[in-house]
Amino acid sequence: MPVRNITILGSTGSVGISTLDVVARHPDRYQVIALTANKSIGKMLEQCRTFRPLYAVMLDLDSAENLRTEVNKNGIETEVLSGVKSLEKVASLPEIDVVMAAIVGAAGIRPTFSAALAGKYVLLANKETLVMAGHIFMNVVKENHATLLPIDSEHNAIFQSLPRGFTGNHSKDGVRRILLTASGGPFRETSLADMKRVTPEQACNHPNWVMGQKISVDSATMMNKGLELIEAHWLFDAAPEQIQVVIHPQSIIHSMVEYIDGSVLAQLGNPDMRTPIAHALAYPDRIESGVEPLDIFKVAQLDFESPDFSKFPCLRLAYKALALGGSAPAILNAANEVAVEAFLKSQIPFTAIPKMIEQVMEVIKPKDIFTLEDILIVDNLAREAAYERINSEGIDF
Ligand code: NAD
Ligand code: MG
Repeated sequence: MPVRNITILGSTGSVGISTLDVVARHPDRYQVIALTANKSIGKMLEQCRTFRPLYAVMLDLDSAENLRTEVNKNGIETEVLSGVKSLEKVASLPEIDVVMAAIVGAAGIRPTFSAALAGKYVLLANKETLVMAGHIFMNVVKENHATLLPIDSEHNAIFQSLPRGFTGNHSKDGVRRILLTASGGPFRETSLADMKRVTPEQACNHPNWVMGQKISVDSATMMNKGLELIEAHWLFDAAPEQIQVVIHPQSIIHSMVEYIDGSVLAQLGNPDMRTPIAHALAYPDRIESGVEPLDIFKVAQLDFESPDFSKFPCLRLAYKALALGGSAPAILNAANEVAVEAFLKSQIPFTAIPKMIEQVMEVIKPKDIFTLEDILIVDNLAREAAYERINSEGIDF
């Protein structure tokens, strides 16, 4: 088994740390070549000390300078770089085999594209890349013979439940529907009236998963499932009406595929990202991930409900963006990122998040997109429109 060289984009985040945890269990299989982060110098220094990568990239220039000083002081021979160009560089170095794309938000799109352009094994956690630029990204993957493996637990479960080598031909493979599971988040049983008053701390307190702040808020609004709907559409060539969102509060089944003969295949496991990460890292082999074996007797019960679109308007907005197509999902994504950030800073109430997104989707009309640059322009426009709403007096959320 040759050692595979890996770059981890967003190594200091929740997915990045879980990835390094799995990688550390298999030093015979993986060599860490590059790690990247935004500003978390402390965590990055620790990771450089443990994994001795050739490169560490901090997006932020000052953070890179500080890290460089620390790395030198500690006698670590890691080259410290900064900026987006360096992120793109370490995602596409010739010696790299595998790139874990685990930067959060639209910031992940450029380096993730670089990895695909360079024909790498792209382990995709950064769902925003597919939401913003699904058809362009899927084409880049195909044209450059990159291999795309989903890390999002639901999409990894769907991938595992589809026939090996599935090419998107549903009728040939007898696929009828995808059942995309959702925990329902921390406010599944909270009334709409109470949701107006929830705090960032409550929103980030997910019942089953420990994740970064942005995706935690997305789970609370159920925008996460909306983004995942769009992600599933592109990954599996599935029409929106072929994707059924299923609320499954235990998060034990990570998603299912229904076939025309009535079979429903599911992937189950404890809610721990190290399972999909290990699956994608070793694919098509299987490796130890450190995840506790599932105690099916302790789980005892699996519940299912249909989603409540009136309580979770973000889900409806995502279906709408997907139906509109073109730049609409990128507009949805940008407005959501700005709204989530504003909510986390207590600038807007929780229930203003979908309202803001809806307003931005009305102001910026969707259009066709052809290149990554088109997408980045739309992303900027939508962000500006969203910031305007936060800053202007008298907007009633
Ligand atoms: P996180 O906030 O914990 O970590 C984000 C990482 O990205 C950090 O290393 C951070 O330094 C880096 N980063 C942040 N802003 C950046 C910028 N502007 N430029 C470059 N780097 C930047 O996020 P996370 O929860 O690990 O999620 C990462 C991605 O994986 C997201 O797209 C999320 O939707 C997806 N995902 C996460 C989980 C999970 O369990 N956390 C599950 C499924 C999918
Ligand atoms: Mg998910």
